[in-house]
Amino acid sequence: MIHIPRLPIPTETRAAVLARAAGGCERCGMRYKLELHHRHYDSQGREVPDDLLALCRVCHEAEHRDRLGHFWADPVAMAKAWGM
Ligand SMILES: [Zn+2]
Ligand SMILES: [Zn+2]
Repeated sequence: MIHIPRLPIPTETRAAVLARAAGGCERCGMRYKLELHHRHYDSQGREVPDDLLALCRVCHEAEHRDRLGHFWADPVAMAKAWGM
């Protein structure tokens, strides 16, 4: 398991991502409780809206699973491992 230190997402970035999503998942459009997904962890604590996606639970889960169904905390590490 990769250790990912969690720094809080800047309040204004969080608000901007949720505003961009306008209440719907940015993958499937489902209007359900949204979770913020990090596309990468290079900018922790100083994220900008482009670093994040507002996703429903199902799409968020899918972003962290490889084709064998294994969970990866860091989607960038998963992409590297799979040569993507
Ligand atoms: Zn979704
Ligand atoms: Zn995520």
